[in-house]
Amino acid sequence: MAIAELCGINNQTHNFNTMKTIDSIYINGEFVKPQGNQVFDLISPTTNKQIGQVVLGNEHDARTAIAAAKEAFKTFSQTTKAERIEYLKRMHKAVSRRKDELVDVMVEEYGGTLQFCRMSMEFTLSGFTAAIATLEKFDFTKKMGFSEVQLTPLGVVGIIIPWNASNGFIAGKLATAVAAGCTAVIKPSEMSAMQTQIMAECLHEAGLPAGVFNIVNGLGETVGAEISTHPDVAKISFTGSSTVGKIIAREASATLKRYTLELGGKSPNILLEDADFSKAIPTAIAAAFMNSGQACVAATRLLVPESRLEEAKELIQTMLPLFPVGDPKEETTAIGPMVSQKQYERVQGYIKLGIEEGASVLTGGLGHPEGLENGNFVKPTVFYNVDNKMRIAQEEIFGPVLSIITYKDEAEAVEIANDTIYGLQAYVSSVDTERARGVASQINAGRVLVNGLNHDPEAPFGGFKQSGIGREFGIYGLEAYLEPKALIG
Ligand code: NAD
Repeated sequence: MAIAELCGINNQTHNFNTMKTIDSIYINGEFVKPQGNQVFDLISPTTNKQIGQVVLGNEHDARTAIAAAKEAFKTFSQTTKAERIEYLKRMHKAVSRRKDELVDVMVEEYGGTLQFCRMSMEFTLSGFTAAIATLEKFDFTKKMGFSEVQLTPLGVVGIIIPWNASNGFIAGKLATAVAAGCTAVIKPSEMSAMQTQIMAECLHEAGLPAGVFNIVNGLGETVGAEISTHPDVAKISFTGSSTVGKIIAREASATLKRYTLELGGKSPNILLEDADFSKAIPTAIAAAFMNSGQACVAATRLLVPESRLEEAKELIQTMLPLFPVGDPKEETTAIGPMVSQKQYERVQGYIKLGIEEGASVLTGGLGHPEGLENGNFVKPTVFYNVDNKMRIAQEEIFGPVLSIITYKDEAEAVEIANDTIYGLQAYVSSVDTERARGVASQINAGRVLVNGLNHDPEAPFGGFKQSGIGREFGIYGLEAYLEPKALIG
């Protein structure tokens, strides 16, 4: 069973290259050498061999990029909606042309499976089309009372993003900034430098005015910190861990920047008493192990009625082999390696912790899967006898580790689902869609997926509680890049 198959993505032919050096950043419409000279090695998660290196920018590069974005804002903020729609169409076209190449690089660089990276690439492209659709409908002037309210672009936006689905964040956040008339400085993760480079080339080809977008590779504590403290940056749009999100909120507060924080999650997946397990269990596996479990929206807590636990366990054991672990370049692989050795060790630590906490291992466990010792591969691990208070049920693991938690009745299922510091996404299954929607409306999460893994690029995305602040995509996402100004009288 392919995760992508559940989401309707088809096969294509792919090529994989070797050793690349990224030694430029993109500032003011040009690829330039960074002033920074620190080098970060890009290591294949599949083999743990070096596949490239990136020369990192520093604070000085970040300041140059911010100055370029500030200058570009003077004219870009005056562009019409029609002009910005045209830019977005060109961005979409330019990225579409190289989508297969981008998929290859994603597989190579962070070990995402072909299946997942193709799906992720479709999400990337939908970032542009959704921004166009939203912008077409959006009115930048509203009447309120006897005032005219003008929604004006905020200014220079700092976009700080994680390594997972990096292209999708560049597309989604930059598309919204452009739609609003803002300019941007993007700081990707150093671990996704190869894919970022191709995105930069595509976006350069789209022909946006110089300075509208700038991309500076670099570390969080240098380039990231400079962006989140600089007085000329009006807003930070951040996606990453809750830990770094809190640092950014503190850093941004010195100059009262606006910010949108898209952070971690510990998503519950409630299978209601009447759920059709023949569909709900493969969907649960796909939702838990998407991107090899390295997804903020991974459904890592599977809530099943006590009366159907044995059935759930049996089906998981039968169906898990349909999601094979292996080389992410293979068409049939559903679960690839962890992005780094550090992440492999972290996930192993959580599996050990789960055993120590008294959870029972249904499948998986410690160590590499047989024959996959050279890469950062983890055995997809399913625990049962899990109490929701255990750390494996409360903390974001970011690997293929699923906890089955039982409940007595619907009220208890909702209580367990909400008993977490997170609230990013949740999942509910029932043969009765209205019943599932009724339960979904009681869950404290920014998105609840009912009966399947549907994706709506225009629906708002973001978290309750410590999963974040603010929303992205659609009208709420666009409004987060705008400042209302009332003209009274
Ligand atoms: P991370 O928080 O370690 O890093 C994210 C980005 O922040 C990176 O570019 C990093 O260099 C930068 N950064 C680090 N320290 C900084 C600082 N002091 N100032 C400014 N920038 C700084 O996250 P990661 O390991 O790259 O990604 C995994 C995390 O991202 C997980 O927690 C996952 O849940 C989260 N995530 C959330 C979403 C969402 O939409 N809610 C989506 C994907 C990933």
